[in-house]
Amino acid sequence: MTLKRNLSPIDFGVMSMTGKSEPRRLRVLVAGGGIAGQALAFWLARGGHHVTVVERHPALRATGAQVDLRGQGIEAVERMGLLGAVRGKLVDEAGVAFVDARGRARATIMANTSGRGRQTLTSEYEIMRGDLVRILHDATKDDAEYVFGKSVDGFEQDEREVVAHFSDGSFGAFDLLVGADGQGSRIRRAILPEGADPYWRTGIHMAYWFVPRIASDSNIRDTYMAPGGRQIMRRSHSPSETQAYFVLREESREASAVHRAPVERQQEFWAARFRDAGWQAGRFIESMGESPFFYSQEVVQVRTDTWSRGRVVLAGDAAHCASPYSGMGISGGLVGAHVLAGEINRHPDDLPAALAGYDTALRPFADEIQGQVDPRLLRLMLPETRAAIGTVLAASALASFLRVPDLVARWSKEDRGGAWRLPEDPAPLGAVPARPRP
Ligand SMILES: Cc1cc2nc3c(=O)[nH]c(=O)nc-3n(C[C@H](O)[C@H](O)[C@H](O)COP(=O)(O)OP(=O)(O)OC[C@H]3O[C@@H](n4cnc5c(N)ncnc54)[C@H](O)[C@@H]3O)c2cc1C
Repeated sequence: MTLKRNLSPIDFGVMSMTGKSEPRRLRVLVAGGGIAGQALAFWLARGGHHVTVVERHPALRATGAQVDLRGQGIEAVERMGLLGAVRGKLVDEAGVAFVDARGRARATIMANTSGRGRQTLTSEYEIMRGDLVRILHDATKDDAEYVFGKSVDGFEQDEREVVAHFSDGSFGAFDLLVGADGQGSRIRRAILPEGADPYWRTGIHMAYWFVPRIASDSNIRDTYMAPGGRQIMRRSHSPSETQAYFVLREESREASAVHRAPVERQQEFWAARFRDAGWQAGRFIESMGESPFFYSQEVVQVRTDTWSRGRVVLAGDAAHCASPYSGMGISGGLVGAHVLAGEINRHPDDLPAALAGYDTALRPFADEIQGQVDPRLLRLMLPETRAAIGTVLAASALASFLRVPDLVARWSKEDRGGAWRLPEDPAPLGAVPARPRP
C-alpha cells in the first residue's frame, strides 16, 4: 500500500559540522504511557530520536497497587540513574504472613535484606505503581512529547513509514510504532494473524483496591486462604491506606468477561464471590465502593512468537506479559524497553535488523520469567477445601520454622530472571537527548 508521505528533515541522517554523517533520528510513536512505554521513551530520547508517547487515559495513569522490582529489573532502573528516586519511595513491607480465619499468623516469610541471593515473596524494592510511573515521567517529560486522552486506534504501513490513526480522528506518520499498550494490546491484535489467541490462561482472577488503614494493619503482608480456591491479601503502604486483594480460581466465561464490565458490575461480582469467605472479607467488601482505585484482571501470560511486523513492534506486557505471579511484570517491562531501545539505537538505519535483534536478545529472558510460573504451584496456593488449606498452612508453618524460604533465598545464585544479563546501555553515557519537535 502507498501512503501519503509526510517528509520532514528527521527522515534522513543529518550531516554534522564536521561533514560526518550522524545517526538517523527516527520518529517513534509509543502507544501507552505505562511502565514499558515510558522506559522506552527514556532510552530512545537519549539515542537522539523524536519520541511521541500517546496515552489513552486523560492524564498520567499514576495508579495501581504495590509492585516490586527484582533481578535484572533493579539493574535496569539503576542504569537509568533512577534507583535513588525509587529508594526514596519504597514501601515498608517486612515480609509475608499466612494467617488463619482468626488472623493468627501460622507462617511468616521475611524479606531477604542480606544483599545476597534472591528476593523472597517480598522484594527489597517494593513500590507503589503510581510512584514508579511518576518517577519515569519526571525523567522523560522534557525529552519526549506526551499526548494524553488519545488512543492509537489503528495504523497502516508501507516500506517507508507507518501512519497511525488516533481516537480523535487525527493521524500522523512515523518511522516506527511501538505498542506498549499493555496486556490487552490492540496493536498486538492488529499484527497477529486473524483469530490468534496469545493468552496463556491460569484460570485465576484478581481484584485489588484501597481501604482505610486500621490499627491492626501491620507492615507484614497477610495472606488468607478460604475454601473454594479463594485468597485474600492485605498489605499497607501508607499511614492511612491499606490494599485489599481478592484472588479467585474460577474457569468460567462470566469470570473471564467481568473485567471488561463497568466497575460497579465488577464489584458486585467480587462481593458475591467473597461474601462468605471469612477473616476480613466483610471489611474489604464494605469499603470497595469508596476506593479511589479498583482494578480487576484475569491472570494471564501473553505468549506469542510475533513481536513485530514491519514498522510496528510490541513492548512490555503487550509482547511478553508474565503475570503478577512471575513477580517480574514491572521488571520485564523495564528490561524489555532497555533491550528494544538498545537495538534501535544501534541500528537506526536498519529497523528489520533492530527488531530481529530485539527478539533474539530478549526472547530467552521472556521465556525464563514466564516459565517460572508453575500452574501446579498456583493451584496448591488456592486450595478448594478446608482440609487442603490446613495441610498447606501446616507445611508452610514447618518450612518457616526451619527457615527454609530464608535459606533458599540467601543461597540462591540467581534471582527470577535467571542467568540472563542485561546488555550494554542503549546509548553511550553523555549522549545529548533530542528535544521534541513542535
Ligand atoms: C492502571 C493500572 C494499574 C496496574 N496495577 C498493577 C498492580 O497493582 N500490580 C501489578 O503487578 N501490575 C499492575 N499493572 C500492570 C503493570 O503495570 C504491568 O504488568 C507492567 O508494568 C508492564 O507495563 P506495561 O507498560 O507493558 O503495561 P501497563 O502498565 O498496563 O501500561 C499500558 C498503558 O497503555 C495504555 N493504553 C492501552 N491501550 C492504548 C492505546 N490503544 N493507545 C494509547 N494508550 C493505550 C494504558 O492506559 C496504560 O497506561 C497495572 C496496570 C495499569 C494500566
